[in-house]
Amino acid sequence: MKIVVVQIVLIYIVCMIDNNFELFMNMAFREANLAYQDEEVPVGAIVVFEDKIIGRGHNQTMQLHDATAHAEMIALSAAYNHFGDWRLENCDLYCTLEPCTMCAGAAVLSRINRIIYGAKDPKFGACGSIFNVPTEKKLNHRIEVISGIMENEISALMKQFFAEIRNKKEQIN
Ligand SMILES: [Zn+2]
Repeated sequence: MKIVVVQIVLIYIVCMIDNNFELFMNMAFREANLAYQDEEVPVGAIVVFEDKIIGRGHNQTMQLHDATAHAEMIALSAAYNHFGDWRLENCDLYCTLEPCTMCAGAAVLSRINRIIYGAKDPKFGACGSIFNVPTEKKLNHRIEVISGIMENEISALMKQFFAEIRNKKEQIN
């Protein structure tokens, strides 16, 4: 009987953790949709501290003519402003897409606690795909990485965006 109770409690805790990941990833996904509406590559990110969102951002590279205006960088900047500090030790960074080298590097410099991302990026991903910046032993801070949260929805939005871009190009040509 006791073992059953313990198992039920453990399953409940695991479900709670999963739900939190999904809940916050949903907020990052909203940001990705804002980028999509602006015809930017649809990537969104948020920074979470003690279950509160303290920074959010979506990709604005086209709008700002800035190759560094990635969703993660904008969300991190908002989080620095929130604390008046560059140290984000107990914060989690949620990203719809696997962060690139720049964003993963910024997360390491900021001492982020965890990176939680949705879909893998085989071209630029630096959290396991082409590099693994968050767990690099030579760096002075390492970050736990959790992936695959809402992967299907996020991948579908990315595919839709790039299909629309291709269609527009075909219509022009
Ligand atoms: Zn990036």
